[in-house]
Amino acid sequence: MATVAGVAVEPGHWIGGERVGAADAFEDVSPIGERPLADIARGGPDAADAAVAAARAAFPAWSRTSREERARLLHAIADGVDKRVEELAQVETADNGALIRSHRRGVMPRVAHNFRFFADWLLKLGHEDFDTRGHANHVSWDPAGVCALITPWNAPLMLATWKIAPALAAGNTVVLKPAEWTPLTASLLAGITAEAGLPDGVFNVVQGYGAEVGGPLTAHPDVKRISFTGSVPTAKAIAAAAAPNLTPLSLELGGKSPLLVFADADLDLAADLAVEQYDNAGQVCLAATRLLVESSVAGEFTERFLAKAAALKQGDPRDEATDIGPQIHRRHLERVDGFVRRAKDAGARAVLGGGPNEELGGLYYRPTLLTGAPDGAEILSEEVFGPVLTLQTFDTEQEAVAMANGTRFGLAATLATGDPERARRVTSQLVAGTVWVNCFFVRDLRAPFGGARESGMGREGGDWSFDFYCDVKNTVTAPWAR
Ligand code: NAD
Repeated sequence: MATVAGVAVEPGHWIGGERVGAADAFEDVSPIGERPLADIARGGPDAADAAVAAARAAFPAWSRTSREERARLLHAIADGVDKRVEELAQVETADNGALIRSHRRGVMPRVAHNFRFFADWLLKLGHEDFDTRGHANHVSWDPAGVCALITPWNAPLMLATWKIAPALAAGNTVVLKPAEWTPLTASLLAGITAEAGLPDGVFNVVQGYGAEVGGPLTAHPDVKRISFTGSVPTAKAIAAAAAPNLTPLSLELGGKSPLLVFADADLDLAADLAVEQYDNAGQVCLAATRLLVESSVAGEFTERFLAKAAALKQGDPRDEATDIGPQIHRRHLERVDGFVRRAKDAGARAVLGGGPNEELGGLYYRPTLLTGAPDGAEILSEEVFGPVLTLQTFDTEQEAVAMANGTRFGLAATLATGDPERARRVTSQLVAGTVWVNCFFVRDLRAPFGGARESGMGREGGDWSFDFYCDVKNTVTAPWAR
């Protein structure tokens, strides 16, 4: 048992309703001051096998549990999360360095909402029977079986529960593999599910490194769905591991999303939207890291942007007044800095930031804006996943669309314009799973969420989640009386 931010955290796996230790452990380090937090179970093939076996054993009873009872249990889990918002917020901030104020007021209440939403959606699912020449069609969503859920470190509990809640609601059993840099809140959630009365084996957690425990999990023949959020290279490894079993995949991957600022936009709003891209110290898949600005307003936009960015306070994420915390890990900070150094070598200029925050030390990277990156530069096409934005200009709408679509990603796009006609015209040409017009990060679980091109495969949210986690069946019954 370890104590993190005053909260007791179990370092083991959670398999079949029990804490399970491991022969080997790895050190979980906080991005705040790079302090060791806990020694966590380092799982391998045995842990993956044991967790899948426990989930498989629990599946028959759970899949036959009534929808009402499943929904009730998911609400009980949500109640448990609601009761522990402060604890979960503290532990998540210690573990991944994101702001305590957003964990307290945004993220953890949303975690509870994820369970409530999918519980309620389940009860509305599939009441639309229809008739074909007197034959009754009935669509049912049959649970698929054991689901392997693999999640990243940038929003650990939030992203995990987008998957856990619909998978469980649909009647599946789950094995979660959280990121090795942020293992703690998954462990706390295991305790919450047990307290809520979720039967043993319905929800399991294996801890460890991706290739060591995630690899065997995704290659396991008894896993019937794999839902993954993370990077493109890992997605390709998972797809290869899943291929021999043809296990269906849902992939939520990286991005290099644009923010298009047209001359007719409210430039103050546009600058606000641009500064928002530094949220979570830039470690957001959806971040619009490419600012594409109409030439005629580029000067004025940049001035407003720099004034707003100058007001951001960087520092300890446990302080409510902090706007930008640290990067997750020293290796990640060095990766981010490598991108910036190579961009400068290629001819880009940092008009803001451009390196680690030496006053603060540690893992703090200055919010950065790069201009003048030449066409074809790495910084314009690769995901940095840090507080690094580029600015490019365009002269025509056509050029703007071509630049926006000019990467191998297609996760999201944001537009700032005062012209509704232009918004419709441009939106229809953008390759992106989500487009925001004069806003950013508004996310409703009823809406589909996912990416085009290398940003992903499949959609999450509402019916889309249930479609993925189920074998959807249509039953056609002839008239009984002939
Ligand atoms: P990552 O791909 O390195 O790791 C993600 C998870 O996969 C971790 O749990 C890791 O242990 C596991 N993993 C690694 N190798 C594996 C393997 N061979 N088999 C099975 N599992 C394996 O990603 P990350 O660095 O944790 O997260 C950052 C990435 O996630 C960025 O690219 C970001 O854009 C993306 N992301 C996407 C979304 C979205 O919704 N589209 C949301 C958040 C983050």
